[in-house]
Amino acid sequence: MNESTTPRLHPLARKALAALEPYVPGRSAEDVQKQYGLTSVAKLGSNENPLGVSPRIRDALLAVIDGVHHYPDPTCAALRRRVAARFKVTPDHVCVANGVDNVLTCLGLAFLDAGDRCVVGVPTYTAYASLALMLNAVPVEVPVREWRLDLPRMAGAAANAKMVIVCNPNNPTGTIVTHDEVEGFLKSLPPTALAVLDEAYAEFAGDPAFPDAATLLGRYPNLVVLRTFSKIYGLAGLRVGYAVAAPEIIACFNVVREPFPVDRLAQAAAEATLDDEAYVRAAYENNRTGRAWLAASLADLGLRSIPSQANFVLVDLGRPANDVARQLLPHGVIIRPGAMWRLPTWARITVGTAGENRRLIAALKTVLVAR
Ligand SMILES: *Cc1c(COP(=O)(O)O)cnc(C)c1O
Repeated sequence: MNESTTPRLHPLARKALAALEPYVPGRSAEDVQKQYGLTSVAKLGSNENPLGVSPRIRDALLAVIDGVHHYPDPTCAALRRRVAARFKVTPDHVCVANGVDNVLTCLGLAFLDAGDRCVVGVPTYTAYASLALMLNAVPVEVPVREWRLDLPRMAGAAANAKMVIVCNPNNPTGTIVTHDEVEGFLKSLPPTALAVLDEAYAEFAGDPAFPDAATLLGRYPNLVVLRTFSKIYGLAGLRVGYAVAAPEIIACFNVVREPFPVDRLAQAAAEATLDDEAYVRAAYENNRTGRAWLAASLADLGLRSIPSQANFVLVDLGRPANDVARQLLPHGVIIRPGAMWRLPTWARITVGTAGENRRLIAALKTVLVAR
């Protein structure tokens, strides 16, 4: 709304910037609410936790708020211990940073030299290719096969690559690759390539064939597993994510990371939420039932969606999704159109609360009939 048009880049900017565009985030709820004079908005464009803030978080934040004149623990020692225990490793296998996005930056800074190849899926999380381009590395894009990441082809492309990034469940398709598939992939990788498993949505995947990262970490020293507190743990606004990998890999992150990447509030909240089983279970159940309901309701509208193991559904709207997304805004519904993944008729829709899901389907009905 109040954004002016993007100014041109300064002529002294690094050349790599010319190939990049700023990340376009989903519309904010406040923004849409104000623009259309709505009392509430169903924000289903950014894969956030629809259950809102757990009461535990409020207490945890208040408990540390009087200490914010001090720098935070630079190493996130307490949080790293807890995360390490979950993956059955020692804390020197864990690096916590300002969201997985920041972990990805550390990965790039630590491992991607100019000209290095970085294998990624298409479509997948767009930050991977951007990161490579930013560092003058070369993204090598391997298309999905029947909407799943094509691990055999990605492994083949890794022969002369430095890094392969596997998003599992994949954003935006919501599909998974299985434990056995990932293990076969890791076995076939040359020792000259790092395997990165971005498991931002792992906690939503109910499929028993979903990889057991702890087991794989014990077997494959070139594996880096990424997890975030932004999705099922509901802390997207605080920015905490982490990597689990061999100490030699974590040591590299510790060289390139910011001195104090995770602030005091974020550390306290992440510690409080890690064993908030009631909240995580409620989020999982809400997502499991909501995802099934959404898929069935979209099918009733004659729309094809991809079976998802994440907290979102990719759906073909059969017409320009940018238009549909815009037409949904006055109804107080935000979705993510697929243009950024070169899927112009598709949209990624986050599973909301039951009420939000009903609101989406009702609004979608109105919009699709209206034309
Ligand atoms: C949301 C998301 C992230 C970003 O996580 P943050 O911890 O919020 O930075 C990383 N990877 C994927 C695939 C995501 O969808």
